[in-house]
Parts: sequence; C-alpha cells; structure tokens
Amino acid sequence: MRIEYDIKLGFKDVMFRPKRSTLKSRSEVSLEREFKFLHSPETWTGIPIMAANMDTVGTFEMALALSEKKLFTAIHKHYSLSKWNNFTSNLTKDKNNFIAVSTGIGQNDSDKLAKIIQQNPNIKFICIDVANGYSEHFANFVKQTRELYPKKVIIAGNVVTGEMVEELLLCGADIVKVGIGPGSVCTTRVKTGVGYPQLSAIIECADAAHGLGGQIISDGGCTTPGDIAKAFGAGADFVMLGGMLAGHDESGGKIIESNGKTYKQFYGMSSSTAMDKHVGGVANYRASEGKTVEVLYKGAVENTLQDILGGIRSTCTYVGASRLKELTKRTTFIRVNEQENTIYS
Ligand code: 5GP
Repeated sequence: MRIEYDIKLGFKDVMFRPKRSTLKSRSEVSLEREFKFLHSPETWTGIPIMAANMDTVGTFEMALALSEKKLFTAIHKHYSLSKWNNFTSNLTKDKNNFIAVSTGIGQNDSDKLAKIIQQNPNIKFICIDVANGYSEHFANFVKQTRELYPKKVIIAGNVVTGEMVEELLLCGADIVKVGIGPGSVCTTRVKTGVGYPQLSAIIECADAAHGLGGQIISDGGCTTPGDIAKAFGAGADFVMLGGMLAGHDESGGKIIESNGKTYKQFYGMSSSTAMDKHVGGVANYRASEGKTVEVLYKGAVENTLQDILGGIRSTCTYVGASRLKELTKRTTFIRVNEQENTIYS
C-alpha cells in the first residue's frame, strides 16, 4: 500500500486571483476556440462547452438549441437508428460540427455505431464512453475505432490520470474525457471509494494531453458558471455539463408537479432509473452508481446559456484574458477555505 501525500484539489478549493487588465467590457471577450486534432484531419471552431451524453441532457432538442450558439452536444447512445436518420435529415451541414454520436464498447454498441455512421456519414465526432477508462478492452476498442474511422474526431473516456490520457491518445483518441466521480448524480465515490478531485485531474491530464498534441474534456462536477471558468483556467479544452443543463425544455426526463412547483427528473446513466429504462434493470453482479433526483424546471436552456457564457466572459475580464484561449495562461489560483456567502441562500 502506498499513499500520495500531495493534496489534490476540487473546484471549491480555489478561486482566481484577479489581475490588472486593459479590457473595458466583457463584450470584448471571445469564447470561441479553434482546434486541430491529433489524428483527425477535421478542424473545429466553437464555444467549447458540451452537453453530457446522458439521456436527460444529450438530446436532439438540446443539440439544436446549443448548436445555435456554437456549443456542442454529445448525443446519448439510446436513440434508435431511425431516430438518428430522422434527426440528421433535417440538420443543416454546419450543425454536424456540434454533435457527437456516443457509444459504449460492446459488440451491439459498435454494430449500432457502424450503422449510424454508414447512414449518416456527415457525423464528424464519435464519443466512446465508459465509466472506467482503465481497462485494456477499452483501449483496444479505441484502437479498433480509430482504424475503422480514420477521419472522425474520436473522444474517449473517462480517466483522471496523465499516463492513461497518453495511452488513449496513442491508441487513436483525439480528445480524452476526464472525470471519475465528480458528477452531480454520480455515486461512484460513495459506492467504490474511487475518484480524483476534478481540478487536479484537469491540471494533470491537460498537461499530459497537450504534450502530445491532444485535448481534454473536463467532465462532471461543475455546479456554477464559476466552476466552468475554473475548469478552463486549469487547462480544460472543453467542459462537459450534465446537471447544469438538466431541467430545461430541451432536456429529457419526466415532468413532475409537486406542491405547486414544476420539476424535471434527472438521473445518472448508471442509476437504477436508467438501467430499468434501457437494459431492463440492474444486473445482479453490480450496484447502481447513480442517483435519481428532481430538479426545478428552468424553462428554455437559452437563458441558462446566457448566464453561463456571461459568467465566463466576466472571469476573463477579471484576469485580463481577451480570448478564452488565454484564460489558462492568465490563471493564478489561490487556495481557499471559503467560497460564497450563503447567508441568504
Ligand atoms: P454533472 O455535470 O452533472 O456534475 O456531471 C455529468 C457527468 O456525470 C456525466 O457527463 C458523466 O460523466 C457522469 N455521470 C452521469 N451519470 C452517471 C452515473 O450514473 N454514475 C456516475 N458515476 N457518473 C455519471
């Protein structure tokens, strides 16, 4: 047994130190980024915030709303081939830049992926998603997917350490998804004791990825626009959101009326709710690693997006970054023991 004693940090452990700036207004800040990829010949320009591939968040409706603002959606893997065909038949070409098709690593998953891509060749991004990205089978699946789809942008995850980021990039991933256990409806840390504080995971994984010319997505744990800004400040190229995009018109999940208030159901993809829905229950060798919650109904996602993007632009003005790309270079984090004043909340 070994213990690593250097402390690992989450979003709540730091704040940005303000810096002198020549920016006059947050309207001068550009949140768009342009990326070239390690393996795929594609280039991408947009605001690098993504809806998670959960069936309550990564919906076709969400993708239409987010792509209007040049934000990305990892579409969840439970849509049928016919629903995909129907969706893409109405899609303008530029919107293909803002969606990924998600897949697991089973034979059924790869067969379905092949059909979706064959019938919708304009899809550019594939998101290979497993809860534990440390298995050899997963790395082999990434390799095989790269061989089958040499031009697609491949996202693979989730991992939290630099050596596994490097391994997945070398196996053919362009972008590695980072995060084990930080999610709002995730119970992995409780059920298994496994995890890695998200800010440190980002810092270490971004360093590993950027050294090889790859990118990372910080996945999970953002509860405020400030957390998203911290993820970018720590070095994340993209930030993926679940809970912050739940509860909207464009989100999935049942509507629930209770005590005169309206809620929408939101649940983890390993929760018993999701497993009942998609695979007929929790298999007897495993435990659910996700929660089911009700979030207050929030209306159109457009208003939430404005709040998020406004917050990040403001972060950039506080540290003097005129473009999101510069935010990490302009970032000094201070370690803190307090965050916001909660007296009226
Ligand atoms: P959030 O933004 O809500 O904090 O986190 C979203 C992320 O949580 C997702 O992108 C995914 O990585 C993770 N996640 C979603 N469902 C589950 C689940 O059931 N269990 C676990 N361990 N993680 C989940």
